[in-house]
Amino acid sequence: MSEGGAEALVGLGSNLDGPAHQIDTALDMLDAIDETRVLATSSLYRSAPLGGIEQPDYVNAAALVMTGLDARTLLEQLQAIERSRGRERGEAHWGPRVLDLDLLAYGGLSIDEPGLAVPHPGIASRNFVLLPLREIAPDFEIPGLGRVRDLPVNRSEPRISRIA
Ligand code: ATP
Ligand code: CA
Ligand code: CA
Repeated sequence: MSEGGAEALVGLGSNLDGPAHQIDTALDMLDAIDETRVLATSSLYRSAPLGGIEQPDYVNAAALVMTGLDARTLLEQLQAIERSRGRERGEAHWGPRVLDLDLLAYGGLSIDEPGLAVPHPGIASRNFVLLPLREIAPDFEIPGLGRVRDLPVNRSEPRISRIA
């Protein structure tokens, strides 16, 4: 890896085809991305699905990575991993999927372009994002939101538990 680079936060989710195994495999694949190294990974969490579609619970986790890639290239690599695990595009939004990798934050950058919004707009409202992030990156400063450790848990979203 080149000198420097950026720290980025990646959110992982799965609710099909052996979710915990999907997350473990995806973490290995994250570490194998060019110029990218996984610095820390959270526990696994179980969460109820968003959006009112009848589907299995999710397994979620988060990872802190150091990367020499720019944000868009990193997101493309995340999407390539999703595809390689059999994720099909064109599914219902928030419908069941074998793997969902979101770029939650990329250093101190704020980006709002077609196909790339960083920090990810769901961070502050999602306990399945906040709880794993607190474990691995409490001091990470999320642009517009502040330090991870200071972000309050969302009381209207109770169904999340640590599973491993
Ligand atoms: P949500 O984004 O609310 O968690 P989702 O993960 O189900 O929902 P997807 O269908 O996986 O949504 O992604 C929809 C689009 O979001 C993708 O085509 C991708 O280009 C775009 N996108 C924009 N910013 C990001 C980001 N920071 N991380 C991941 N995808 C992003
Ligand atoms: Ca998502
Ligand atoms: Ca996604």
